[in-house]
Amino acid sequence: MSLLSSSLLDRATYPCPVCRRGEIQPLPLMEACGCNFCQHIFTVDLETEVLRMADREPPLSWHWDGRQWTGAHLAGVEFNWLYGVAAIAFLGLPTGIIGLGAIYFRRFPAVPSIGCRLFGSA
Ligand SMILES: [Zn+2]
Repeated sequence: MSLLSSSLLDRATYPCPVCRRGEIQPLPLMEACGCNFCQHIFTVDLETEVLRMADREPPLSWHWDGRQWTGAHLAGVEFNWLYGVAAIAFLGLPTGIIGLGAIYFRRFPAVPSIGCRLFGSA
């Protein structure tokens, strides 16, 4: 099944969805396409009308809407609420520890800062 004989892909070249500068062209003697600018390799699934980046794991995939590639999706990866909880914990836990440390050590007698000594104020 050639890339050029498809009803989905009736043009000779397509814009690259990754770099948006190069063009995707069929690679000779292969069932794959390549960008002439960023050198990424793609495979075309004609049944689902999806372009997949073959040199990345998990592969990104795009759908051709007739004018441009739309929707960069990670194939086989679904995000659920656990990723949100993990992201909040990843951002909030270190910040919380530092914040609690600052509140806890603020209770001890204050040490004059260097800035106060340099400018002569008490
Ligand atoms: Zn490219």
